[in-house]
Amino acid sequence: MDRQRSTRIAALVAGTSTVALLAGIAWLVLGGRHPGPRVRRDYNVLLIVVDTLRADHLGAWGYERDTSPNLDALAASGIRLDQATSQAPWTTPSIGSLMTSQYPATLGITRERSALPESATTLAELLQAEGWATAAAVSHSFCGAEWRFDQGFDTFDESNVLGPTGISSPGITELALGWLDIQRREPFFLWLHYFDPHFSYLLHRDHDPDPGSDYDGGVVSGAPIGDLNQLRPTMDRADLDQLARLYDSEIAFTDAQIGRVLDRLEALGLADDTVVIFTADHGEEFLDHRLLGHGKTLYQELVHVPAIVRCPHWEPGVITAPVGNVDLLPTLLECLGLPEPEGLVGTSLGPGGGPPSHPVLSQVDKRRHLTSLRDGDLKLIANRQRDPPRLELYDLSVDPTERNDLAAEGGQRLSVLTEQLLRLERLSRERALPPAVLHLEDDQRRLLRTLGYIDD
Ligand SMILES: [Zn+2]
Repeated sequence: MDRQRSTRIAALVAGTSTVALLAGIAWLVLGGRHPGPRVRRDYNVLLIVVDTLRADHLGAWGYERDTSPNLDALAASGIRLDQATSQAPWTTPSIGSLMTSQYPATLGITRERSALPESATTLAELLQAEGWATAAAVSHSFCGAEWRFDQGFDTFDESNVLGPTGISSPGITELALGWLDIQRREPFFLWLHYFDPHFSYLLHRDHDPDPGSDYDGGVVSGAPIGDLNQLRPTMDRADLDQLARLYDSEIAFTDAQIGRVLDRLEALGLADDTVVIFTADHGEEFLDHRLLGHGKTLYQELVHVPAIVRCPHWEPGVITAPVGNVDLLPTLLECLGLPEPEGLVGTSLGPGGGPPSHPVLSQVDKRRHLTSLRDGDLKLIANRQRDPPRLELYDLSVDPTERNDLAAEGGQRLSVLTEQLLRLERLSRERALPPAVLHLEDDQRRLLRTLGYIDD
C-alpha cells in the first residue's frame, strides 16, 4: 500500500468514527432515542389557561354572543380542538394533568390539600432543562407555588391571587407585557393563568352583553356562590339569563385582556416565532344538571373545554375528534422538535402523531368519586359511591347535553366502554406517584371556604 493511499484510508476511518461518535453523543443527548426533527430553540412558548371557561360560551365554539373576538381570531390562526376534554372538573388535578400529561389519579390529587407531587415531571421542567427561560403569572392558589406548580419556573408570580371578588386579569396581562418587553434571553416559556370567569361573577360595564336588561332579581353582580346556592331551588329563567349575562361579561373582559398580550406579541415581532397554546382547566355549571359552580360532576358543561394550538410551522385547522388536555404537552413537544419522555398518557395532535383516536379519561375524587370515558361520541360515567358503581352512558352525537342515559339498554358498547374505563383507571393508579399533601393554615381554609371549595 503506497503511503498516500494509507493516509487517505486513515483519514476516512478517522472521519467515519468521528461521525459515529457525534451521532452517538446526539443519541445520548436526546435521551436514548433516535434523533428526530431539529429542535426549534428559536420558538418561544406562550401557554394561556383561563379558569372556569366552558367551551360553548365562546364564539369559535358556536356561541351566539360575541364574548371572545380575540380567542376566536387565535382559533382561526391555529388548530382549534373542537372537542377537548379536561381531565378533572376543578383546578388542581386539571392543571396537574395538563402540565404532566398524566391522569389525576397518578398525581394523587384528590382534595383541596393535594399538591402536585415533586416527583412529577412538568412541562416547565422539561423546557427549563432544554434551555428555555421559564416564567408564570397565576391568579389562583390551587395552581400556585404552595401547591407546587412552581416546579421548573425561573420566575413565578402570584401577586394576582385576589380571591373570588378580585379582578385579576389586568394584573396578569400587565405582568405578561412587562415580561415580553424585557425578555431578551430567548427562547422563553410563559404561562398565564386567568381567573376572572370563576365565581363570584362580576358585571363589567364595558363588556355587558345585555346592557338593556331590566333584571331586578337576586342574582346580583359579585354575589358569593353560597348566596347563589341558596337561591338555587327557586331560580327561574330570568335568574339563569342573569347568571349567563354576568359570566359572559367576565369572559369578554378576560378575552380583551388576552387580546392585549397577543397584540403585544405581534407588535414586538414575536408572533411568528411563538407557539401559543390556549385552554381552560374546566367549565362551569348553571343548573345544567341541577348544580351551580364546578368540581362535583363530569358532565360536558364541566369537562368540555376550549383548546387551541398555534405552532408556527403547522397549518391552521380544526380537529373534531375528542382529545384530552393531556395531549397538549406531547403536541407542544412535537412542535418544538423535542423528544417525548417515557410514560405520557397523551399523544401528539401534530402531523407526526397520526389521527387522534384514543379514549379520554376524566376523574374526580373529591367528595364524589367519578370517572368518565369519552370514546368517539360515546361517554361513560362511573359513579363509585355506589356499590356496584352506577354507570351512565350518553351518545353525545344526538344528546350533547347528556339528558338521555342509555346505560339501562346495556349492550356491547356499554361493556366495551366499561372495560376501557377500568383499564385506563387501573393504569392511572398503578403509576401513582407519592402524593403531596399540604397542611393548610386557617387563612387559607377561610379563602377556600369563600371560594366554595370547603363546606366545613
Ligand atoms: Zn379552576
